[in-house]
Order: sequence, then C-alpha cells, then structure tokens
Amino acid sequence: MLMRLQKYSLEVKYKPGKELHVADALSRACLNEHKEILIDEEMEVNCISHQLPVSEEKLRDFRNATAEDPELRLVAKAIQSGWPEKQRQLPDNIKQYWTFREELSYEDGLIFKNSRLVVPHTMRSEMLRKVHESHLGIVKCKERARDVLFWPGMAKQIEEVVAHCAVCNTHRHNNPKEPLMPHPVPERAWEKVGVDLFHFNDSEFLLCVDYFSKFPEIVKLRGTTSKHIIIALKSIFARLGVPDELFSDNGRQLVSQEMEDFSTAWDFKHTTSSPTFPQSNGQAERAVQTVKNLLKKAQDSGGDPYLALLEYRNTPLDGVGLSPAQLLLGRRLKSKLPVSKALLQPALHENARSDLVRRQDRQKQSFDQRTRTLSELQDGENVRIRQGSKWEPDTVINKHNLPRSYIVKTPSGQVYRRNRRHLLQTKET
Ligand SMILES: [Zn+2]
Repeated sequence: MLMRLQKYSLEVKYKPGKELHVADALSRACLNEHKEILIDEEMEVNCISHQLPVSEEKLRDFRNATAEDPELRLVAKAIQSGWPEKQRQLPDNIKQYWTFREELSYEDGLIFKNSRLVVPHTMRSEMLRKVHESHLGIVKCKERARDVLFWPGMAKQIEEVVAHCAVCNTHRHNNPKEPLMPHPVPERAWEKVGVDLFHFNDSEFLLCVDYFSKFPEIVKLRGTTSKHIIIALKSIFARLGVPDELFSDNGRQLVSQEMEDFSTAWDFKHTTSSPTFPQSNGQAERAVQTVKNLLKKAQDSGGDPYLALLEYRNTPLDGVGLSPAQLLLGRRLKSKLPVSKALLQPALHENARSDLVRRQDRQKQSFDQRTRTLSELQDGENVRIRQGSKWEPDTVINKHNLPRSYIVKTPSGQVYRRNRRHLLQTKET
C-alpha cells in the first residue's frame, strides 16, 4: 500500500466520525475484499526483488551500499517523504532524478526506477564489468543493462567500458569504406599515368593507364624484377611520351633504387599509394580488372585478346561520349567495324575535360553513399592496426603527407605506413 502511495503527495486531515456521512475508502469500516488487495500488494513487492537476477547475498550488498550512498539516501528520503514542489528545492546531487521522480520507488532498502534496480555508486563498476562480461558490443550491452539496472549516465559509462576493452578492440569489424578521394582529373592526356602489375594465365603483365583518357597499355613481362618493369615502361613511353607523374602502389619492384634512377634519368615524378590499401591506386586497379576481364572473355570464347583491347580503347566512356583513343590520340582507331573516312579524321575535343570531371563527380557520389569519413588521428595516439583478421595495438608517430596515410609503430618497434581505414581508433591508453 505504502509503495503504491509513494508517488502521491498526500495531505492527511483529521475529520471526526460525525462529519463523515458516507464511509470513504480509508474508513475503518472496510469491506472483506480489502484483505485480498493487501495480499496482492505484498506479492507485488516481493516480485520486484525476486525478479532481480541477483542472489540474496548480493541483494544484501545492494541494500548496504544503497544505505551508505549519500546520493541515494537523499533520493530514498525524497521518495518516502515526498518530492518538493520545485526541482530547485532539491539538494544539488539529486536534481538529476527530478524528471523521472514519478518512476522511482523505495522498497526494502532498495530504490527502483519502474522495476529496474537503481545501482549505488560503489557497485557501479562491478555492474559495468558484469554487463560486459561476455564482450557483447555497445548496443547489446546497453540493452542488457537497461533491462534490469539503472543509474544516471549508465549508458555513457557502458560505451566507455566497451570502447576501452582490449579484447573487443582486437576483434572489431573492419572500418567502413571512406568516401572516394579520386585523383583530380589531369589537365591533359598522358600527364599522369598509373602503373600496376597483374598475373594472367601463368604470365605477368604490366599495365599503364592514363588518368585522363583511361587508355590502357599492357605489356607482357619477361620477368618481374625492376629491370624488366623499366624496359616495359620505356617501350610504352617511347610510343606515347613520358608522363609528368607515374603513380604506383608500393610493390617491391616498383619502389627500388633502379626505379628511382629511371625516373630521374627520364625526368618524371614517381609517387606511391599507401601500402595494403589499393583504393588510392583505384584507377589502375579498375583498369586491371577491366583488362583481365577482356583477356579472360577472349580466351573463353576463342577470340583475339588484341581485338578486344582495340574495341575497348575505341568505346566511348559513358557520360563523356569520347573513347580513350579519342581522348589520348585525338582520333578513332580503325577496327573491324565499318567506319567512314570522315570519322577517322583527328579532331580536338575542348570540352572533354569538364565532361571527365562531371563523370568523376557522379561516380564519387554514387560510391560515397555507402561510405563514412573516419576521424583524424593525432600524433602519439594509441590505435590498433589491422593484422589479418585482428586489430593489434599500435601508436601513431605522425601523419604522412599522403591523405589518410599515417606512420605507425608497433610495441616491438616496427614502423609502418598505413591507410586510415586499416587503423582503428580506440580509447585505450
Ligand atoms: Zn570487451
């Protein structure tokens, strides 16, 4: 009965019996059914404590800790003796209970918010540990805790616990993909060229792709040392000219001293992407996929791979209306399809670049819908680095001058350059 009445603020007035013409609810002249109601309420009271997933012993701990908690003592007092009219009349440390005061009850030395146990300060860290005992994620832990427990700021503290948990951080999912950061469309054809190696049919190939026209060049390699790669590049550059910039991944043969000497001698800049993160070399990666596909289809259908390559170079890019051949060489290439002489005449395409920029923007937009930007990392910040299927501890040394690229150090002193996507921000110290 008391429990039910806790939420009302009552005013008790004495009225002599002679003024009571009709017996009211609190009159001693009660009906027999009253007894049953009392039993009901006792049951309700017992139920709340019995529903708690804790032992009798633990309940005793909770009672003692509640009694010793200066904040909860005041809350219990407010529940029992009634809340004041205004929030400001409450002591500062329990003002945060005001908005849900109607949901609070005090029973048998314990405070409840609806049927959830309000946990005293000294037992909160133990409860946090229990909630996260089986290393469920943030959302699941919060749901689990909210089901039975309460204290102000509990959800936030659960988030902190999970974010600091070394076990959970080791097994976190991959970072989401970040929005595309395409290389800007160059001003002219063959200004910037991507290079990549690929394996097809027991042979190694080198592929060059122009960032402007998307024109692919491939050369079958006699070997995969820097020497072989340089010979292949020279044969392409002799045909189409030396680019201003050659972009590659960090393949061993591509970042050798010989490559450096070659770039100095032939006067072009050689830049590289972040290791283990091919997306920033996306242009060449995509071209490799396309060319491999062409080769595979030609092989499966008994067709000629060179014809397939010719047709590909002659096919207009969507949204631009010009083919890689037109964009690079300024003319259509004669192939097996009948074509008028007029169409084979070289022509200038002055608006090509703005069309290429628009095309790239559209591609970025559609890609970015499934991505999220990852936050910047600070020098000296403790992070984790993707090693196989796990995240291992690591420290950021500094940001690399390539975007989204960081120099990091493992506890054993190894230094790596990694893309942001392969670094996990944690709150571990
Ligand atoms: Zn954990």
